[in-house]
Amino acid sequence: MMFSTHCLLCAGSPHPASLSVHLHCDHASECKPVLDLMPQLLQCFQACAGCDYQCTFCPTVYNLPATGQEDSEQVETRALLAQIHLQHHCPVVLQTGILLFYGCNGSSNHHPGGEQGTAGHSERHGAAPPRTKRRRKGGKEGQEGDDCSKGKP
Ligand SMILES: [Zn+2]
Ligand SMILES: [Zn+2]
Repeated sequence: MMFSTHCLLCAGSPHPASLSVHLHCDHASECKPVLDLMPQLLQCFQACAGCDYQCTFCPTVYNLPATGQEDSEQVETRALLAQIHLQHHCPVVLQTGILLFYGCNGSSNHHPGGEQGTAGHSERHGAAPPRTKRRRKGGKEGQEGDDCSKGKP
């Protein structure tokens, strides 16, 4: 998975195990607002996580496989370790957050008043693009309502 091998912000490809450290250190300011999304992200990723010793999303192994002999306290500890990985160390969770955050808020690389000469795109055509209305599904066209035709052999 690309999120675990490549940095979305600089296209670098550190080792998956050090990718989250790279993100937190080299892109600290970009990561900061994303951390606000973490509770929601965590919920989604935890719901999809397959096991409690290896991350389902990146190749990190953070525990030994369960033996089935664990008491409730150990089970809890294992779950906590899995949560800590997703929350703090998993590059896939963090990069998903980055994609969601910056994808929704648009690029932060606006150049306000930078080059006013490049007016190519600012020229507005008179008509605003029509909003695409939701296509009416028009009912099921196959069923015209006259059930009489059903009787055909
Ligand atoms: Zn990077
Ligand atoms: Zn992971």
